Amino acid sequence: MPKTPEDVIRGEIRALNAYHVPDSAGMVKLDAMENPYQLPPELRTRLARLVESASINRYPDPGASALKVQLRKALEVPAGAELLLGNGSDELIQMIAMAAAKPGAVVLGVEPSFVMFRMIATFTGARYAGVDLSEDFSLDIERTLAAIERERPAIVFVAYPNNPTGNLFDAALIERVIEAAPGLVVVDEAYHAFAGTSFMARLPRYPNLLVMRTLSKLGLAGIRLGVLAGGPGWVRELDKVRLPYNINTLTQIVASEMLQHGNVLTEQAGAIKVERGRLLRELTGMPGITAYPSDANFILFRTSKAERVFDGLKQRGVLIKSLHGSHLLLADCLRVTVGTPDENTAFLSALKQTLAA
Ligand code: PMP
Repeated sequence: MPKTPEDVIRGEIRALNAYHVPDSAGMVKLDAMENPYQLPPELRTRLARLVESASINRYPDPGASALKVQLRKALEVPAGAELLLGNGSDELIQMIAMAAAKPGAVVLGVEPSFVMFRMIATFTGARYAGVDLSEDFSLDIERTLAAIERERPAIVFVAYPNNPTGNLFDAALIERVIEAAPGLVVVDEAYHAFAGTSFMARLPRYPNLLVMRTLSKLGLAGIRLGVLAGGPGWVRELDKVRLPYNINTLTQIVASEMLQHGNVLTEQAGAIKVERGRLLRELTGMPGITAYPSDANFILFRTSKAERVFDGLKQRGVLIKSLHGSHLLLADCLRVTVGTPDENTAFLSALKQTLAA
């Protein structure tokens, strides 16, 4: 008898639901924290020329060395820290967990936060311990320190700003977490472009700190490039679980060119921040809606009957994300990514219609 998935696949994997990406064809897509803007035509032409002359018959530069030099500068990585690149920061999370998951190892995260911390911990056979945030989504420091003491986690993940709540935790409290942690603390700065504050400069002060960034939210989600910065001792070990050639040639070429035109993406992030302000003001003024201030490119808001509102928006051609049911603190919560002014207007008018229906 051939073996079945039930015989072969680990129970904890069979118990998972796959990361769900809904069909967004034809919709105003405000569900995935993408930058809504296209690149200027001249820049697109330059990229096309570079891709045209790329030697894609060859393997990529395995260490992406030229790109790393540019990234060090662009990300203001302190001297002494090294870089590790991933196929998106998702892959970096996976590499860290894979390298550290000794039998019985614990990965600790706050809740609610980015779901891949929990999922990847499970993939790698680590035990995930979630610590609830306070009701206002701030770090509950006493509860977090008690959990660190109890669980002795190999890795603590902290998203700064946090997804899906959008807020920055108090930096002094994160420092207490770093000081108390017996292992690594990874500060995930995926939304850095919209927050303007970072733990990067603290790397020399904390030998157990790693700082993670991504180009995804800045406008390059399609090329998949995540960056981890940290002490050379850590990076040397983590690099051993990296698959050879994980950063493909086209990604290296496009990222490298884009870093030379970084102002284009920074200006787009600026426009997104302006629209974030408008969306927050409009949402705050709507009866029955509580909107939470955000340092990221999305806004979390609470409404009565989130599912009805989510479906109403979808029927009107606007796709956002429902978080209802994912955590007690997120009851009746929805998350909207900041889009272009027109997209945001379409969202607001669909929301008004839905609430009035
Ligand atoms: N970290 C956080 C906090 C995120 O919200 C996301 C994407 N939703 C990621 C990491 C993953 O980003 P990517 O793999 O595109 O770099």
